[in-house]
Amino acid sequence: MSLFDRAELAPADPILGLTEAFNADTRPEKVNLGVGVYLGEDGKLPLMAAVRSAEERVTQQHKPKAYLGIDGMPAYRDAVRALIFGADSAALADGRIATVQTLGGTGALKVGADLLHQLSPEATVLISDPSWENHRALFTRAGFTVDAYRYYDAEAKGIDVDGMLEDLRAAAEGTVVVLHACCHNPTGYDLTGEQWDAVIDVLRERGLVPFLDMAYQGFGFGIAEDGAVVTKFIDSGLNFLLSTSYSKSFSLYGERIGSLSVVLGSAEEAKKVLSQLKIVVRTNYSNPPTEGAALVTTVLTDPELRQSWEDELGSMRERIKTLRQGLVDALAARGISDMGFIAEQLGMFSYSGLTKDQMIALRTEHGVYGLDSGRMCVAALNTGNLDYVADAIASVRG
Ligand code: PMP
Repeated sequence: MSLFDRAELAPADPILGLTEAFNADTRPEKVNLGVGVYLGEDGKLPLMAAVRSAEERVTQQHKPKAYLGIDGMPAYRDAVRALIFGADSAALADGRIATVQTLGGTGALKVGADLLHQLSPEATVLISDPSWENHRALFTRAGFTVDAYRYYDAEAKGIDVDGMLEDLRAAAEGTVVVLHACCHNPTGYDLTGEQWDAVIDVLRERGLVPFLDMAYQGFGFGIAEDGAVVTKFIDSGLNFLLSTSYSKSFSLYGERIGSLSVVLGSAEEAKKVLSQLKIVVRTNYSNPPTEGAALVTTVLTDPELRQSWEDELGSMRERIKTLRQGLVDALAARGISDMGFIAEQLGMFSYSGLTKDQMIALRTEHGVYGLDSGRMCVAALNTGNLDYVADAIASVRG
């Protein structure tokens, strides 16, 4: 009897497992709308022009592959902190923000979760209903009880703000609240500025611990516009955690590059928290990799590359909007006029409102892969597959 006989066969990951099924599908017309990846008009993952230039520069330097510090590359931390908080942020100048380079957004969430669990093991973590699948799994694995606050209003095709506020008001002091900073995954519905203010008031009144997850900055309305929620939290005076990911906005999925910041009341507190974050990192993977950090830093700190990056990200954002409208129009042309909300949603995803059975039929009958929840990645559409997808949706809608 081996110890490993105790290991049960786990179900495939709901999102990545779908890609495995997609890869195994031999139908040439198949379309993968499962995973959250932006694909270009040619159906391929783009290498952004600024990233390509940065890569050439970094390669030419032929630097030896030294270890980074536990908290990552100092120039990277400075560059992303300026991006997230603004170069002239008073909180940054005061030294009130502890930041570590992380393995993508997921790594940031896990480092944050481990820190929180060490400080407050009994706390409950609240995520939105629904949320990115991995939120629940990740915080559960980190040792927390995970519950949900109301978010999506299926009837109204929007956010149940009153329900959300009511659930937050009912939460015990010290509860960790995971909030999508922009481009909510999976619904594509974001709070307005005023609604954020109301949420922040409740977080403050109830003594809750906000954990902002920002994986799609730049995909909603723009880098500054999407980042405005961070300024709101800074201005609120609350302590909060913020995870960021550069997987999508730099198309650097495989480099695993992101950051975790904890905004605190004083430089002294930030120093202590940073020392704890370093223990979490050190005991997990010691220190982060260099390549992604070098690329993001080079792009963000070179004015020409930065402009090119912002422009290209802007055209990706606009193209997704065009695809959304294109899908709405194509569906309308097939007699489906109640899916216009797809054009209102933000970011890479559309919560289509299709049922699990319809999503399964899309997959089995048409080779169009989306999540059982009805989530589809509209950023993987293109003019070549849009009509096919619209036909497939029209067919499963019956
Ligand atoms: N948070 C959310 C809401 C996400 O959608 C994702 C990526 N799908 C992540 C975090 C993780 O990002 P990364 O791929 O950089 O780990």
